[in-house]
Amino acid sequence: MRDIFVRRATESGKWGPEFDTKGSVWRLFLKYPKIALHRPHMKITRLQVHILRAPDTARPHWVSHFIVPKANEILVRVLTDEGVEGIGLATSYTPIEAAIHAVKTGIADLIVGADALAPEALYQKLFALTWQRPAHEKGWSREAIVRISAAVDIALWDIVGKRAGLPLYRLFGGYRNVVPCYVTCAYYRDGKTLSELRDEMQMLKAQGHTGFKAKAGGLPLAQDMERLELVRETIGEDRDLMVDVNRGWDLATAIEGARLLEPLNPRWLEEPVRWADDRRELKLLAQKTRIPLSAGESELTSYGCRALLEEQAIQILQFDCTMMGCASSPTCRPRRTMIVSSTPTSSRRPPRASSSSPSPTRSATRFRRSCSRTRRRSPRVC
Ligand SMILES: [Mg+2]
Repeated sequence: MRDIFVRRATESGKWGPEFDTKGSVWRLFLKYPKIALHRPHMKITRLQVHILRAPDTARPHWVSHFIVPKANEILVRVLTDEGVEGIGLATSYTPIEAAIHAVKTGIADLIVGADALAPEALYQKLFALTWQRPAHEKGWSREAIVRISAAVDIALWDIVGKRAGLPLYRLFGGYRNVVPCYVTCAYYRDGKTLSELRDEMQMLKAQGHTGFKAKAGGLPLAQDMERLELVRETIGEDRDLMVDVNRGWDLATAIEGARLLEPLNPRWLEEPVRWADDRRELKLLAQKTRIPLSAGESELTSYGCRALLEEQAIQILQFDCTMMGCASSPTCRPRRTMIVSSTPTSSRRPPRASSSSPSPTRSATRFRRSCSRTRRRSPRVC
């Protein structure tokens, strides 16, 4: 007890290391009992918000049914009274103006002054705005609140890691400091020919990528298959190919598409069916294909990701902490994990025997921040 009191009194900054020599510790304890209850606290003094915009191009990039926004990244810098700074990033597929409006009309006031070393407390406070009247009165959309919560949460965990002197993967108990990554490619662009697609894939291959995630769902199935066959042919059989439909297919097309894709040996098929009834349709599709199905990045919250797993709608969860928060997100809290579960069944294709290929678990644990340099320069839609 004496040691705790001395340590906390020192941590509080009220006394320096000479504290222990000032006389009876117990006398001081009786005089200043609150010091014994002192907890480390780091006050947030300022919040800076930046919107990142991609360069203007004459030919926008498309996924299956929407243009990739040019400005959909929210970068926050959280400054503290101890000079430790945290950086956080959030992504939004909807117009960024909603988040800007929330920042300009007071949500930052709820963040400044909070304890940077208590990210869960601040996350819960911000997330609770989604069902509170003042937020509605100020016109803060649910998505804007969740995205800002995500960016701030990442920044606060950045601060926690810096304060602890440990990278977060170590703080959370992990041991790997290398993760596999892939490049997202084959976006649709007006006038894009197969020749242009081949050049793109050759360039990415020359850059040394070993995993390639190609967009699909934006053209009739026969044309999309022609594109994907070209992608597989260009990258070769020994590299990973993934296919991302961005919720573009109806169930019948998804079943047929999966059948046609199997010879191309994709590691997974991402968000193959439309959003409205996706859990049910993903389960139905899984009965028709041996290709693992993935989803998660389009969920608004981690609750939705948990439901995808619990309802066994997917085999690979693509949790995105830039969408819904870092370790303070409720369903991540129990083990401070970004995870992800891989639940292969007997009907699933076994993992390929390739030393360069990530295992199913490693595939499952990838998340968007681990994407490649090229992908970061490309539009931010996974
Ligand atoms: Mg995606």
